[in-house]
Amino acid sequence: MQFFKLRITVGCVAAAFALTVVAGAASAAASPTEITLRAPLDPFRLVVPFTAPASRWGAGHRGIDLASHLGQQVHAPANGVITFAGVVVDRPVVSISHSAGFVISVEPVESSLAVGVTVATGDVVGRIAQGLSHCRPQCLHLGIRQHSTYVDPLDLLDEFGRVLLLPTERHLS
Ligand SMILES: [Zn+2]
Repeated sequence: MQFFKLRITVGCVAAAFALTVVAGAASAAASPTEITLRAPLDPFRLVVPFTAPASRWGAGHRGIDLASHLGQQVHAPANGVITFAGVVVDRPVVSISHSAGFVISVEPVESSLAVGVTVATGDVVGRIAQGLSHCRPQCLHLGIRQHSTYVDPLDLLDEFGRVLLLPTERHLS
């Protein structure tokens, strides 16, 4: 069952880099510590990529931001159990725990689902709300922790696999 065709807008980054998808990584047999995610929004349009922090508490962007609109349906990227649905500081957050040790969080998302509810990939878990200050005018922040460490969601999204940005030939000596 196919839910979405993923589409990425690289914008000006494409001018300086060639996007190379390491084939095989995505098609390799999944170990118990891996998952493949479905996009939480349709259409899928990346507006801010993941930026790993230099240290545990350092600055970074611990997830990706996707273009969205107020009230848009948000789908579960994977099977799991709702482990949080409520307000964190000033924005509504929904977290889904996956049996392989991943915690998937989406915000700002208002949900009527209760903690403990099981969801399947593609289920609607809520709708885009207002209240996320770090992207305007409206976006969905998708964050994923694997055993408490934030990972790049693009590495886990179906049809992406692990993504590397490499210099184009004109930058190679
Ligand atoms: Zn974000």
